[in-house]
Amino acid sequence: ARGATAFLTIQEGCDKFCTFCVVPYTRGAEFSRPVARILDEARALADAGVREITLLGQNVNAFHGDDGKGGAASLGALIRALARIDGVERLRYTTSHPRDMDDDLIAAHADVPELMPYLHLPVQSGSDRILDAMNRKHDAKTYLRLIERIRAARPDIALSSDFIVGFPGETEEDFEMLLEWMEEAQIDRAGAFQYEDVKGARSHTLENHVPDEVKEIRWQRFMEVQESIMEKKNLAKIGQKIEVMVDEVSEADEEGFIGADARSKGDAPEIDQTVFLRDADGLNPGDIVTVEIEDVDDFDLLGVPVSRT
Ligand code: SF4
Repeated sequence: ARGATAFLTIQEGCDKFCTFCVVPYTRGAEFSRPVARILDEARALADAGVREITLLGQNVNAFHGDDGKGGAASLGALIRALARIDGVERLRYTTSHPRDMDDDLIAAHADVPELMPYLHLPVQSGSDRILDAMNRKHDAKTYLRLIERIRAARPDIALSSDFIVGFPGETEEDFEMLLEWMEEAQIDRAGAFQYEDVKGARSHTLENHVPDEVKEIRWQRFMEVQESIMEKKNLAKIGQKIEVMVDEVSEADEEGFIGADARSKGDAPEIDQTVFLRDADGLNPGDIVTVEIEDVDDFDLLGVPVSRT
């Protein structure tokens, strides 16, 4: 736990067998922990002052833990049970597979206030031919329709995704489909990785590996598109009042100013955007406050508290 935020593993392993990944071999088949154990741990975390819990699993939305009544609970059902625990104010889960975003989980985004408007949902490529070679078991349009449904359920949701550029066999045309996909999807955060062989992964044996210098150029072109989307989204936040949770409060500097690192509802701990607060005097980790966004730097936001809850 870092201050008021903690991670809780609910699921391990995976049955999806994406060709670039070795999790199904190294971690084994998909396994979900029993609901009662997870609820006990979440209660203990809340008693210790944790206000935000991120549920972890390699394929977390395939969760189907023993519900203690002879059945299996879906992730949506688990989230509803966790949200009822006193002190648990913010819930997130990661990492998800598009095929496991069921109706119940999408509905939870609409009607569980404790479930944060945040979703990390890797798509990996914008080309159906490459998605097929990756064995992702979905096409690019199905994913777009899925995020339309998720945005309809929770319009302020921050969507984050991962992409592999230069996957074996990726042509210029496949790559341009990814850039078009990005323009259409307008997701909030994107992590792009240049393809690398992972020892033991089946993609190693595919033909037409992309030269490193081509991967590098494609990665830079991808980042330019993503940075312009992000810049536009960031600038639109200036002047807005948003709710943040404080992660860390600084010591007073020489002039007596106290600052803090905080995160909006759409930002996951440790990886996403920080809202740097000036005038954080009297704030503590875990406090949830409304701030006005005053400025942006390359990636992060600067704000000042305007009211406290
Ligand atoms: Fe499973 Fe994710 Fe690995 Fe695919 S990338 S095999 S969904 S863990």
